[in-house]
Amino acid sequence: MQDRDVVIVGSGFGGSLLAMVLHRLGLRVTLIERGKHPRFAIGESTTPLMNLLIEQLAKKYDLPRLLPLTTYGAWQEVYPDVVCGKKRGFTYYHHKQDEPFVRDAERQNELLVAASPHDFVADTHWLRASVDHFLVQEAVFIGVDYQEETSLMEADRTSDGVVLRGERHGNPYTVRARFLVDATGPRGFLSRLWSLPEQGFANYPNTQALFSHFTGVALCEELPGFSPTEKPPYPVDAAALHHVFEGGWMWVLRFDNGVTSAGFSVTDALANELGVSEGEPAWGRFLARFPSIAAHFVNAKPIERFFTIPTVAYRVGVMAGENWCLLPSAAAFVDPLFSSGMPLTLLGIERLGRIFAEHWNLPTFGEELERYAEASLAEADATAHLVSAAYAAFANFPLFANLSMFYFASASYGEMARRVEKPHLITRFLGVDRADYAPALERACTRLQQGEVTDVSAFAAEVAHAISPLNIAGLACSSKRNWYGVELEDTIRAAGKLEVTPDAMRTLMATAEWAQFPKEG
Ligand SMILES: Cc1cc2nc3c(=O)[nH]c(=O)nc-3n(C[C@H](O)[C@H](O)[C@H](O)COP(=O)(O)OP(=O)(O)OC[C@H]3O[C@@H](n4cnc5c(N)ncnc54)[C@H](O)[C@@H]3O)c2cc1C
Repeated sequence: MQDRDVVIVGSGFGGSLLAMVLHRLGLRVTLIERGKHPRFAIGESTTPLMNLLIEQLAKKYDLPRLLPLTTYGAWQEVYPDVVCGKKRGFTYYHHKQDEPFVRDAERQNELLVAASPHDFVADTHWLRASVDHFLVQEAVFIGVDYQEETSLMEADRTSDGVVLRGERHGNPYTVRARFLVDATGPRGFLSRLWSLPEQGFANYPNTQALFSHFTGVALCEELPGFSPTEKPPYPVDAAALHHVFEGGWMWVLRFDNGVTSAGFSVTDALANELGVSEGEPAWGRFLARFPSIAAHFVNAKPIERFFTIPTVAYRVGVMAGENWCLLPSAAAFVDPLFSSGMPLTLLGIERLGRIFAEHWNLPTFGEELERYAEASLAEADATAHLVSAAYAAFANFPLFANLSMFYFASASYGEMARRVEKPHLITRFLGVDRADYAPALERACTRLQQGEVTDVSAFAAEVAHAISPLNIAGLACSSKRNWYGVELEDTIRAAGKLEVTPDAMRTLMATAEWAQFPKEG
């Protein structure tokens, strides 16, 4: 029997990254995977906050080989064989059933939010088969004990830890750990084995998802109806591209190898009309409803099977106990909208890293773990509230575009607070810890959910006011007509919200790589 400090079950990006962090803290870590890399996984679109979190973890825990993964340009230079795609921003188009998409002169049926000023520092879409394989190899490279193709059947709690039993390559496999982390995703290892009660999210609509990977997906910018008359803030397809419609939304994420990830997430009512549970036939029925999305996929060929998820959202009641915890991604998942899954997982890894560094072997460890669980679940709950309000608003795109400003304001503020070394200003996703922000977000979401918001202009004014404490990116600005490029002057003007002077912000931006615009020509 192996004797370890920590066993992590599940070697997705979360498990591998946490294994590296804990190994660097000097703990004896084993990472266990039931399958074998490379393998298909979903969860592909990264964000500025997510990439900054990886950068900070890489620097704090001496993992320099992960740094190139945090910008598109460095990634291409250092790891051209690890597959990703370029993400310059968040693109949204609104569709009505049986009607082709035609751009509105006032841009009332589209929203573009840039995430980076140019390609080199852009975010990425991860082809998870490739990236997760790379990460697990990195974990092994630095010395993590990795056991793949291992089926675990038992996890028994003992007075001083957990004993895991199963089999590996036909032989019995047993490992004893003082601490167990479940990194197997929603409805995963411990949820099933220990029948952890599922609590769900309050007032959240049941949603279902259907997705695959394709080749031959056309560029939106080349399709009739989409092509803009003015130059957009970034190439609209080099983005997390969303098609939004009453009852749900679709993602389209391009990778550099010609493969595109696409899928949709819809409420039960629409899922049942489409017959999502049947898989591929529902894809055809979906395209038949939306002519411009059909044009987008007219030459597309699936290269993976179609995956269905009958209930996308998931939340446990309890995510940690003595000697064990779930990663945020195993404890809760809401929806791919706003690409929140991986950032929430990374915030959890950051918290766990700190707890193991400062409290391992101390009596305070347990209470810190409780705080970790409380913070992670509070963030998931707030995300679920926002996303359920988004579903309520999808039919009325201007309402959705305004609502989304809550996400963009808190995400960009969270990123900048870290960049100016003031992380205490916002410690939780969506500003859940900000008394001057979170209640207004809750109010707006509840009113949308309850169908109380009908006046778009009044809602726009309410959002602009509510996000103001965190709005450092010139968001919710009607004169921008739903196109938000990276405008550093907005952040310089709002520097006081980050407790720095405009001059200090200007100086920072004059030198920081992420703030540089490419030279003309
Ligand atoms: C449709 C969809 C789209 C999404 N899109 C995004 C997005 O664009 N951006 C974003 O940030 N997030 C997204 N997410 C969320 C994202 O997928 C997760 O946050 C992320 O994958 C979590 O990573 P992980 O490593 O914790 O778990 P996973 O990636 O789920 O990896 C879990 C690993 O555990 C292994 N495993 C499972 N059971 C066992 C077992 N019993 N024993 C051993 N090993 C086991 C699996 O084989 C796998 O390797 C999306 C989720 C869904 C469902």
